Parts: sequence; structure tokens; C-alpha cells
Amino acid sequence: MSNWENKNNMPTVYLIDDEPELLELLSDVVELTGLSAQGYTRASMFFEQVPTFEPDSILVLDLHMPEMDGIEVMRRLAQMNNPPALILISGHDTGVLHSAEKLGQAHNLKIIASLGKPVTIGHFRQLLDQHTQSDKWIQRNDHQTIGRKFTEVELHRAIRDDHLTLHYQPQFEIATEKITVVEALVRWQHPEEGLVYPDRFIPLAEQNGLIGKLTSWVIEKVVQQEQQWQKAGLSVAVSVNISAVDITSLTLPEQLAELLADNKLDPTRLTLEVTESALMGELVTSLDILTRLRLKGIGLSIDDFGTGYSSLSQLHRVPFTELKIDRSFVYNITEDTEARSIVKTCILLGHELNMWVVAEGVETKEHLDILRQLCCDRAQGYLFSKPVPAEKMTERLHSET
Ligand code: C2E
Ligand code: CA
Ligand code: CA
Repeated sequence: MSNWENKNNMPTVYLIDDEPELLELLSDVVELTGLSAQGYTRASMFFEQVPTFEPDSILVLDLHMPEMDGIEVMRRLAQMNNPPALILISGHDTGVLHSAEKLGQAHNLKIIASLGKPVTIGHFRQLLDQHTQSDKWIQRNDHQTIGRKFTEVELHRAIRDDHLTLHYQPQFEIATEKITVVEALVRWQHPEEGLVYPDRFIPLAEQNGLIGKLTSWVIEKVVQQEQQWQKAGLSVAVSVNISAVDITSLTLPEQLAELLADNKLDPTRLTLEVTESALMGELVTSLDILTRLRLKGIGLSIDDFGTGYSSLSQLHRVPFTELKIDRSFVYNITEDTEARSIVKTCILLGHELNMWVVAEGVETKEHLDILRQLCCDRAQGYLFSKPVPAEKMTERLHSET
């Protein structure tokens, strides 16, 4: 077991691996990143010596260990307060890692990543750096939990008083390298809390019957923005996220069509993104609504594809025009051959069903190169731009033409 002093109040990284050499090596890498490392060759020792966890600590966990294996460790962690976020390691095939990852998530544990053995030091270090420093990490994971909870009344006022704002993220057409679509993503410009991300208030809106109002607000703003872009000679289509609850409102297609007609906007310039899981509810009602939206010419995208449970027949029944591959698959396409096969299959499936295929979470040039090889139509992600305010997006669109 190796033990180090806790430095600079940075989170502690615990490591459990029955191979002492690997343990030593990984601990050294942890130290290099400026974090403090505590290594254990046996899980029982870890539980004896670490009865409680500091916030933000990390556990690097080997799944395959003789006495108490990684799966059992996860089960025990799930019953403890404030469990560390996990980096899983396994010498087995990636299938085992994926199942372990899913199991961890089912236990409500935060899984940072899972790595096959041999562990590449560069990759391990990159993961630690990303976890501790990157604002991307903060944006993706922490804005959901940091800060206080909001009330229904506050959110209601925010919608009424225009305290919400839209950021736009471009979608890059891979063949032409042009921005052809932007996705609108809502934020709350909170007087005390600053910019609040949707994960902190969309669920609240859904639970309190406010989501319809919120969606209407978003769509109205998008329609105004689209008009401004058209006036400025900028040709770009817009995607909007809608919620499961929205596709239970039978009048949605008519209201939308009317709004678009009043503003003389071509309905094919608007796409509504629905997550796979949103289709789990009242299928007859949602099918009715989605089909009428399509009949009116509005585009329909199936969002976060691959994370939900949509069956092939559902895909076939709902008239989707676009399929968006979830970023968790895209993120791994460079290293993980299974993730790459999934992405490849999604692209083939989408094209076979006459849909455009969009990959989300495209962060590197390597991601893009692979997606191009796999004939994906569009790519969206930090490689091109984070979501930005409308003015910034307008500048970007001007600079592209
Ligand atoms: P989503 O529809 O999957 O939106 C994409 C999310 O991925 C955005 O987070 C975006 O900032 C993030 N993202 C984009 N590119 C990258 C990348 O390269 N790497 C990584 N790691 N992340 C990337 P955001 O804006 O926090 O939105 C979170 C979710 O909130 C959205 O997920 C969507 O489901 C929901 N949401 C956003 N706006 C609305 C809205 O107006 N109405 C409804 N009902 N839901 C919304
Ligand atoms: Ca979306
Ligand atoms: Ca998505």
C-alpha cells in the first residue's frame, strides 16, 4: 500500500488493484497530475482504512481481484455516503467493462470512464486532467448538482419575465463542411446563481406542468431568431428539444403550424428533437402528434439514440427524419471498437430508414475523421463550437458565408 500526504486540498484518488506494479505506476501518474493518491492491493483493506469519503474523490478500481472483486466493491460503495466517482479497469473484454459500467450507473455511482488493460498512461492521465480541470466536465456533470434547488414559482416567473435565454450550437455538414443547422439549448439567466443549465430546471418544469410554457417560450424565441437570420441573408435551420410531456398535447401540431405560418416560416426549417425515452409513454397519443407534425412539414429527430429502449418497429412507425447518435458512443469511437461498431450500425440503420444521421459530442479531429469514413451526415460538438449566445452564433454564421 502506498500513502501520500493530501496536497492543495485537491480530491484524493484511491486505487485498488491486486497487481502491485500497476498500482505503483498509476499512483505515480496520479501524483504527477497534482492529486494525492492512496493505493490498496486488497479491497477489504480499502474499506477498513477509508470509512468515509471526501467530496469529489475518485476511485480507480480493478474489476478482477481475487478476494473481493470490483462488482462487490461497487455494491458496497452504493450503500455508503458520498461515494467516489469511479474509473474502472479490466483485463477482460470490453463487454465486461460495459456491463460493469451499466451496473455502476444502476447503483447511482458516477462512472468517469472504464479502461481495458493494458492501461495507457497517457489516456489515464488525460482522464484525470479532464476530470479535475476541464470546464467541459463541469458543464456536463456538475451543473446538475451544484447550487440550490429552485422552486416552481421561481421558474414560472423566469419564463414569464424572460429570464430564460437560448444558446445555439452548430451542426456541421461533414461533406460540405458548412453549418447548415443549429440546435437551440435553453439556459436560465438567474439573478443570483448566474447561468443555470437545463438539467437543473427541465425536470422541475416537467414535474410541475410548466414544460408546455417553457417549450412555447423556446419555440417563439427560435422563430424570432430564425426570422432575423433570414433577414440577414443567413440560411440555417433550427432544432429544438421537446419533452415527453409536450408530445401528449394534442393541439401542439396546429399551434406550431399556425405560429410558423404567421411568421411566414418554412416548416421544413424547424426540427423537433425527441429523446428515445420520451416515446416510452402513451404511444398512441405521441404517434398521433408526431405524425401530424410531420404532415405539416416539421422535421422530427430521435435524440440521444442508443441510450433508450426504442425498438426497431417503433423507429419504423414514427416518421422520424433524423437520428442523433448519443454522445456517449461518439466519445469512445477512437479507442473502443464496440462503440465504433454501434455508431457504424446507427448510421447504416438511419440511412436505410431514410433519415439524416447526426453525431453528437464530436470533440476531436479523430472523431470527425472516423465519422466521415462511416458516412455520417452531420457532426455536432465542442470541436466546432460550444453552445453560444445568439449574437455569437450570428457572427459565426456571417464569417462562414
Ligand atoms: P441534448 O439535447 O443531448 O443536448 C446536447 C447537450 O450536449 C448540451 O448540453 C450540450 O452543451 C452538450 N454538448 C454539446 N457538444 C458537446 C461535446 O462535444 N461534448 C460534450 N461532453 N457535451 C456536448 P446542455 O445544453 O446542458 O443541455 C442538456 C440537455 O437539456 C439537452 O441534452 C436537452 O435534453 C435538454 N434541453 C436543453 N434545452 C432544452 C429545451 O429547450 N427544452 C427541453 N425540453 N430540453 C432541453
Ligand atoms: Ca438535443
Ligand atoms: Ca442529445
